[in-house]
Amino acid sequence: MSKVIAIDGPSGAGKSSVSRIVGGRLGYLHVDSGALYRIMTWQALARGVDTDSPDAVAAFAPQVEIECRPEAGAIRFYVGGELPGDRIRTPEINAHASHVASVKAVRDRITSLLQGLVRFGDLVVEGRDITTAVFPDSPARFYLTASAEARARRRRKEEVEKGIADQSEDAVKASLLARDAIDSTRKYAPLRKADGVYEIDSSDMTLDEVVEAVLAKVHEAFG
Ligand code: C5P
Repeated sequence: MSKVIAIDGPSGAGKSSVSRIVGGRLGYLHVDSGALYRIMTWQALARGVDTDSPDAVAAFAPQVEIECRPEAGAIRFYVGGELPGDRIRTPEINAHASHVASVKAVRDRITSLLQGLVRFGDLVVEGRDITTAVFPDSPARFYLTASAEARARRRRKEEVEKGIADQSEDAVKASLLARDAIDSTRKYAPLRKADGVYEIDSSDMTLDEVVEAVLAKVHEAFG
C-alpha cells in the first residue's frame, strides 16, 4: 500500500518548498492540492461563473476535466491537455480561490481525486485539509505554520521572482490573512490543526531545518 505524508498549513508557510524537497529526498511524488482549487477557480473565472454564488460554483464543478500525470517527481495536473503554469497563481485567483474552495461539491470532487492518486505510488501531499479530511489516517501528518509577517515576506519574494506580481508586503499579507480567515472558518473541511499532528513553526527556521525536522518524524512514523 502506498505511503502518504500529509502536510497542512496556512498560505505561505513554506509547504510547497518543504514538500517538494522531502518528496525528492524520499522518492515520493509531490502533490500540490492547492493547485486543484486554483484550477477550479481559474476555469470558473474564465467561464464567467460568479464565484460568490455557491450554487453557480457547484453546478460548474463537474464540468472541469483534470488529467493527473506523474512526471518529474510530482503529480502534474493538465487541463485541456495543457499545464496551467503561473496562470493559476495571479492575485485575481488568490482573491477568489477560497470562495470556490468553500463549496462542498468542489471539495468532494477534489478530495476523491486526491485519494485516488495513491495508485501512482508514495505521496507527499500538501494543502489545508489533507491531515483532517483527505488522508486523516496517515501516520506522518504535519501542520506547518509561520508568523503572518514571515509568510507575507516569502510569498512576495516568490511572486516577484516569478514575475507574477509586485505588490507591497502589506498587500500580500492582507491577501494571505483574508484567505486564512475564509479557509479556517468555512463549514466544510476547514483548516485546523488536528490532534496527533506534528506542528512546526518555521518563522525562525531555515528551509533545511524544516526539511530535516519533517524527515526525522517521517522516519519515526514509517520506520
Ligand atoms: O495552497 P494554495 O495557496 O495554492 O491554495 C489555494 C487555496 O485553495 C487556499 O487558499 C484554499 O482556499 C484552497 N485549498 C483548500 N484545501 C486544500 C488546498 C487548498 O481549501 N487542501
